[in-house]
Amino acid sequence: MTAKPEWEKFKVGELSTTRWVNPDCQQLTTVSHVAHIETAKRIFKDGKINSGLIFDKSKLNTERILVAWLSPNHWSDGFRYGNVRFNYDWKTLIANKRYYWVESLAYGVKACRILVTDEDRSDILEEYDPTRRDGPWWFDEINDNHYWNGNYCLEIMIERDVDIDDCLTIDFVNHHLQFCNILPLHCEDCGRSNLNAGKRLISYILSNSYNFPRKKFLGTINAEKCIKDDVVYIVRLIMESLPDYIDQYSGDITSDSDVALPLAKSILSYYSDEDKKNCEKLLSLFDSADEFIKTLEKLCVKRFRVKHLYEEDYLS
Ligand SMILES: [Zn+2]
Repeated sequence: MTAKPEWEKFKVGELSTTRWVNPDCQQLTTVSHVAHIETAKRIFKDGKINSGLIFDKSKLNTERILVAWLSPNHWSDGFRYGNVRFNYDWKTLIANKRYYWVESLAYGVKACRILVTDEDRSDILEEYDPTRRDGPWWFDEINDNHYWNGNYCLEIMIERDVDIDDCLTIDFVNHHLQFCNILPLHCEDCGRSNLNAGKRLISYILSNSYNFPRKKFLGTINAEKCIKDDVVYIVRLIMESLPDYIDQYSGDITSDSDVALPLAKSILSYYSDEDKKNCEKLLSLFDSADEFIKTLEKLCVKRFRVKHLYEEDYLS
């Protein structure tokens, strides 16, 4: 008699017949990659989530397999992976791929790992068939719906780089107060709120010139409008907090000056790094708070095509 596959312990539960959703049988429509701010800056620069070798206790840590990590989990007490969340459509991400069971690992909440790949990995891993409904991910073929067992952490390992152009939306989440997957207890982002992370990342994007998928910030996820994650709201917060950095504007730079835009970009770059001192020094070169804000508006039009920061009115 062959042993039962390991994944049966994590099998999805019964589908609810009422509006109540059973935690062990939730619809699986999107998965996300969550990154720390510094990593997210690199992701924006590269235009993709780079796959990497596996370093933890995984059985794949001796294989030359490069993966990007995504998950449907929502950590209501804060994410341990960082503050910046890239959300992807599940069906698109896994279409025409092969699926393999990797392992289950216990750290607090038990984690189940599934590899999604173009490669044939049957020499090292057992194939996972989601239509059998005997593990943490079930594909209901008849109704074309996917479900997962939310009582466990489902970690999806995608064996390729994942483009940020392909994501549905980008938003910000809270970092857990103490837990961090990179530097437990020493991570400078521990306890950082979604709004604070948004201000740092949006100011970084405004301070740079490379292409980025601006529309992803303007979208919504699950049709729920979340004003806190709205880029306009975040830019307003930056606008409102920056002029307060200094008491007096002693310079003569106005929004029409040639150096106004490069100067504002430098200020935002320092702001993103939380370097208040240098922020203050450069900010004081403006003629007034008004002139700085006008310059910031020009930058927003250029980078996010946001027309009026106070009317939530976007250019197409
Ligand atoms: Zn951290």
